[in-house]
Amino acid sequence: MNEVAARQDADNRTDVDVAVIGAGFAGLYALHKLRNDLGLSVQAFEQGSDIGGTWYWNQYPGARSDTEVTAYCYSFDRDLFDQWRWSQRYPRQPEILSYLAMFADRYDLRRSIAFDTTVLSATFNEQTSRWELQTDTGDRWTAQFLVEGVGLLSSTNLPAFPGQDRFAGEIYHTSRWPHHPVDFHGKRVGVIGTGSSGVQVITEVAPEASHLTVFQRTPQYIVPAQHGPLDPGLLARIDAHYDEYWRGVLDSITAFGFDESDVPAATASEEEREAVFERQWNSGGGFQFMFATFNDIGTSREANNAATAFIRRKISQIVSDPETAARLTPHDLYAKRPICCDGYYETFNRENVSLVDIKASPIVQFTERGIRTEDAEYDLDVVIFATGFDAVTGNYLKIDHRGRRGLRLRDKWSHRPRTHLGLMTAGFPNLFMIFGPMGPFTNQPPAHEAQVNWIADVVRSVRERGMNAIEPTQDAEDQWIQACDQIAYSTLFPETNSWINGANIPGKPITVMFYMAGMGSYMGQLRDAANGGYADFLFDKQPVGA
Ligand code: FAD
Ligand code: NAP
Repeated sequence: MNEVAARQDADNRTDVDVAVIGAGFAGLYALHKLRNDLGLSVQAFEQGSDIGGTWYWNQYPGARSDTEVTAYCYSFDRDLFDQWRWSQRYPRQPEILSYLAMFADRYDLRRSIAFDTTVLSATFNEQTSRWELQTDTGDRWTAQFLVEGVGLLSSTNLPAFPGQDRFAGEIYHTSRWPHHPVDFHGKRVGVIGTGSSGVQVITEVAPEASHLTVFQRTPQYIVPAQHGPLDPGLLARIDAHYDEYWRGVLDSITAFGFDESDVPAATASEEEREAVFERQWNSGGGFQFMFATFNDIGTSREANNAATAFIRRKISQIVSDPETAARLTPHDLYAKRPICCDGYYETFNRENVSLVDIKASPIVQFTERGIRTEDAEYDLDVVIFATGFDAVTGNYLKIDHRGRRGLRLRDKWSHRPRTHLGLMTAGFPNLFMIFGPMGPFTNQPPAHEAQVNWIADVVRSVRERGMNAIEPTQDAEDQWIQACDQIAYSTLFPETNSWINGANIPGKPITVMFYMAGMGSYMGQLRDAANGGYADFLFDKQPVGA
């Protein structure tokens, strides 16, 4: 469809139909869908200097997906799926970034993206029913619809330890990695953090560094990924049943594209459980270990205990020094975002790797020469922060959103984020959040596509009805939050602290932030909203300029 051109208004602002924030998987697809399919005028904004989002920022050694790549890509374009040949089951960051670059070129997206541009504020003008945007480049834009793909895991968490600026060596954060190679040969490297990013960078840097010191606060359960080339048999099976494969992805709990178990651990004998866990350990994958083995690891203590006992045994078998093994062994529930990584525990058998327990002996400060904990000092040339993200809400709250009657999003969400369907929030008309808070807890690209398709239908519907704006009713939002809470509390996830419930950021409200009933159920909710004529939403026909 031919797209509508942007216009300049009397106040020297550029008016478009849709503003998109972010040029990762989500923002790129939104730009394509709304500009190329719906023919709207669309302007996208991206803080980084290029497309890619996560895969632009996280260029640290070892960075790769842990969704098998056949489900970590766009599905809507069958030719693209057939033409692009992935080399690996879990591709490394450069390969995913190349894929997204090819996608941007295929659909001529770059010309609609303002790079090196951060959106600072977004104000809804009730007179015009338009969003007014201010960027850090001083440009001003207005848009009827605002679609934000600002990233669930994008706002960097960089703790400030005393004395950090006195450190004479190099400091990096995994999620703001420089776009040039960093040489670790002959260097004493320290890594703070042992989540998904930490375990990848630790495993990759250990063979290069002269010495690697891992500063671990909380150990996690880590199973092998079993990296390797993409199974041509799997590709052939998907090719033969393409639509069925993607329907299956969207119908599943995790949207990861593997067969999820429908067997409760309680129905299996101890020997059977052991055999199932062993098989999964050997075929790899974190979500697979949690969801393909049994169907109740995230909901039943007994099942969870069986899984954790298995992983603990593996740690003690792999790690040769019993003290190090003990420090690497978690004792909490297996109810965080699952992690997989090849060779992680084996890394601690290397002579040049040591593990420091910073829960037992916290970091006191950085010195000119390294890091001082309560009971020792470590000389370092490089410190890598793998300390994660102000996840889910971080980037939404960095933008100063003001909705109806000047309502600030920061105030509305001061106790917890509130949305309907993880996509919209009452009082902020025409604002759509891709993977916003209270959205599904799944593999992301298929969920992005589903959400953007839903958003495009809503936009179409607003325009076809001759309306100017849409927002969820307060009642619908309240019911969604209640449902999310009920579902989450029927699982074990709220019982552990991590970025999933906000506990990783000091001072952030600790609360449910996901719809944990699975992708299939979430798709049903999206369908119901559309098929019901958006009965849970208010349409507004405020005349433009009134
Ligand atoms: P992002 O890719 O985070 O893009 C958001 C973009 O918005 C960023 O580029 C940011 O600069 C921009 N932005 C934010 N605020 C503003 C603003 N105010 N103005 C302008 N621009 C702004 N998920 C999985 O499902 N499977 C995986 O295997 C997986 N692996 C991962 C590996 C790593 C190393 C990391 C860090 C995350 C991984 N994730 C994975 C999560 C990953 O973030 C998503 O899969 C996906 O890439 C998110 O895409 P997105 O477009 O929603 O957000
Ligand atoms: P994370 O899971 O939040 O881990 C952060 C680590 O830093 C934790 O070990 C945390 O310890 C530690 N930490 C945080 N603040 C600290 C402080 N002040 N002092 C000491 N230690 C501190 O972050 P992440 O590893 O970047 O991963 C976040 C998410 O991104 C993942 O769960 C996943 O969804 C995605 N991701 C995926 C992959 C992949 O394999 N595909 C790779 C990277 C990221 P505590 O646990 O004690 O808080």
